[in-house]
Amino acid sequence: MTGADAPICSSKGCRRAATSAVVWRNPKLHAPERRKVWLACAEHRQPLSDFVSARGFLLEVIAVDALGPHDG
Ligand SMILES: [Zn+2]
Repeated sequence: MTGADAPICSSKGCRRAATSAVVWRNPKLHAPERRKVWLACAEHRQPLSDFVSARGFLLEVIAVDALGPHDG
C-alpha cells in the first residue's frame, strides 16, 4: 500500500472504499512468502474470498488496516 488515498475495492467495476483484504497465493505461481491481496468492500468481501477459497488459494481475510508493508 502506498500513498494516503483510501483503498478501493478490487472487484471489477466497484469503486467503493475497501474495508477488508483477501490475502491469497497460487502455489503454482507464487513463492511461499508471497502474499497477494485483493481489497474488498463489505459487499465484495464474501464473493472475492469465496473465489480464491474455491481454488484453494485463500490464506486469510483481514481488515485493510492490518495489511503489512509486504502484502500486495
Ligand atoms: Zn466492492
